[in-house]
Amino acid sequence: MRVLVTGGAGFIGSHLCDALVARGDEVFVLDNLSTGRYENIEHLDKQITCVVDSTLNQEIVRDLVRETEVVYHLGATVGVKLVVERPVETIVNNIRGTEVVLEEACRYRRKMLITSTSEVYGKGIREEFCEEDDRVIGPTHKHRWGYAASKAIDEFLALAYWREKRHPVAIARLFNTVGQRQTGRYGMVIPNFVRQALMGQPLTVFGDGQQTRCFTSVNDVVPALIKLMDTDACNGEVFNIGSKSKISMIDLARKVVAMTGSRSEIAVIPYEQAYGDGYEDMMHREPCLKKVQAAIGYEPKVSLEQILEAVIAEMRGRLDVPEL
Ligand code: UDP
Repeated sequence: MRVLVTGGAGFIGSHLCDALVARGDEVFVLDNLSTGRYENIEHLDKQITCVVDSTLNQEIVRDLVRETEVVYHLGATVGVKLVVERPVETIVNNIRGTEVVLEEACRYRRKMLITSTSEVYGKGIREEFCEEDDRVIGPTHKHRWGYAASKAIDEFLALAYWREKRHPVAIARLFNTVGQRQTGRYGMVIPNFVRQALMGQPLTVFGDGQQTRCFTSVNDVVPALIKLMDTDACNGEVFNIGSKSKISMIDLARKVVAMTGSRSEIAVIPYEQAYGDGYEDMMHREPCLKKVQAAIGYEPKVSLEQILEAVIAEMRGRLDVPEL
């Protein structure tokens, strides 16, 4: 199959390209290399076609969509730090970029899979979030919620294309996805902690450290994305993808220190100091996985320890790089 992956040079996109190439697909990548890195797909150099451009360039998107049979749309501005620092870019890229890709995919009737995010649930006080739950989004002066709102608009638009034009599109709401090639530069906690531990720097735990997250390996997420794309019954539906094993950030920091054998201290830092006032955190974020289990038999297999081992091993080899 000929497949287009927007954001294919990013962390998740590059792992998706690996899996698609391995199963014999002809892969085209569209990535503006803003947060993605060519190094992530360099090893696929001869096997894929990479176009360095933006999803905002409608002509390029049209050409690529016409060339291919299905479209995985992962291209987006992500990462809490980036989203808080560059809110205009975040909102424009995420809304207009998705609008362009949907419009062109619909023109040529190419099935789409869009990756969304657990951020769309906002700061709801429950621990477990189901696809149909109400969303609780904070005020507009907290830029973090601009990201959540932009991804929610993407979902609304995709579902509208399905309802009005019967355009086949499925939506994956990804919870905290982690693994090799993820950078800490845009705020993600695991690459940050591992890097800090390996450098002997204090691990920066934000807030009181009691907030919990459920981390999922990218190696569990990628096969699920492919199955959602390949299952017609998933059209017009939203699916959580994540894991049920939860850990607090303070315990995560302790685990990283133990697993790296680091002498680093753990520093508890107020949110305002970390992100300024554009940030609000949510205490818990755990997915309900019943829907995705029923649809594609999804079951995450990789443990947090296995994820951390892989990230630590990869980062040990790259510590000469000033910013990972
Ligand atoms: N976090 C932290 N130290 C860091 C980066 C993040 O304590 O250096 C916290 C952050 O405040 C949040 C959790 O770790 O409570 C997960 O953050 P991340 O940005 O990885 O994902 P998200 O906020 O989207 O769940």
